[in-house]
Amino acid sequence: MTKFKLEYIWLDGSAPTQGLRSKTKIIKDFSGKLEDCPMWSFDGSSTQQAPGNSSDCLLKPVAIYPDPGRKNAFLVMTEVLSSDGNAHPTNGRATIDDEDDDFWFGFEQEYFLWDPSTNRPLGFPAEGYPEPQGPYYCSVGAKNAYGREIVEEHMDLCIEAGLNIEGINAEVAAGQWEFQIFAKGAQAAGDQIWVGRYLLERTAEKYGVAINWHCKPVLGDWNGSGMHANFSNSVLRTCGSEDTYKQILEAFRPVTAEHIAVYGADNHLRLTGLHETQSIDEFSYGVSDRGASIRIPVVTVENGWKGYLEDRRPNSEADPYKVAARIIKTVKSALVPA
Ligand code: ADP
Ligand code: MN
Ligand code: MN
Ligand code: MN
Repeated sequence: MTKFKLEYIWLDGSAPTQGLRSKTKIIKDFSGKLEDCPMWSFDGSSTQQAPGNSSDCLLKPVAIYPDPGRKNAFLVMTEVLSSDGNAHPTNGRATIDDEDDDFWFGFEQEYFLWDPSTNRPLGFPAEGYPEPQGPYYCSVGAKNAYGREIVEEHMDLCIEAGLNIEGINAEVAAGQWEFQIFAKGAQAAGDQIWVGRYLLERTAEKYGVAINWHCKPVLGDWNGSGMHANFSNSVLRTCGSEDTYKQILEAFRPVTAEHIAVYGADNHLRLTGLHETQSIDEFSYGVSDRGASIRIPVVTVENGWKGYLEDRRPNSEADPYKVAARIIKTVKSALVPA
């Protein structure tokens, strides 16, 4: 008989930014299959998801990955349900309208490795500042790259867990890094970003390092952190029509505020029009334009308007489920026959 450890992961009710929570369930002779993961429950009064006199919330398993950091173990991503079995109001995953997984998402998750003792990024001295930005992006060497050990270990764990991680890079600010995850299906992409975030937190924890997901943890002339959302559906991948692209892009313009509402807290600190961003009140798009709200990658144009778009506005703290749900809604609204 083998005892397996299943780590049930869910999103709490913290506002404005939901946080990761998890706890372990031991199961004997487990098959490793999602359908054999039982429903579970937790104390919603401790996570801002239920009142104390009616505190039970339910955990519904929705995705499973091998847990490479533990023996005989799995990571189980779950959705939170209220005690009546309906999706909890904090459950962004349940709001995604993409039944046939026609939408593909590639998220670029930026973050800072954070020194809890100085409350500053790794690589920042306790007082004053390191050299101005310039040498850190895609750097190598102890003078400019900080925390690579953690980043490498995280990448290996993601691969071993079966996440479709596509790459990593050191970012523009000191102590800032990025990983990219791509999936066919909005829910799968969201699940993998959240499990990737979980693995990063757990890995850095071993080194006494925190992850700062805030979109502008260092004010001044230091880049903020985004979570660019690259997306496509079969129309964007195959239409071959600049007009169709324009029609989809124009559908984003009147719902700018609705998008910003789910693109992460404090985004006005990051979307200033500087540091490769568009200002939070503007909407724009352009080929190869890293100062636009939505960039049309040059390969999409070179392939005869077949490819994908990059919404550059979502920030590092945004919930990928809610970001994807909103993008899908807007793209679908553009494609309704007149
Ligand atoms: P950059 O830093 O230049 O913006 P990255 O290489 O970091 O670009 O990220 C580009 C992302 O676009 C990758 O995550 C990739 O998976 C994603 N992507 C590529 N093709 C598509 C597509 N057809 N649909 C959705 N996402 C895509
Ligand atoms: Mn990138
Ligand atoms: Mn980046
Ligand atoms: Mn990008």
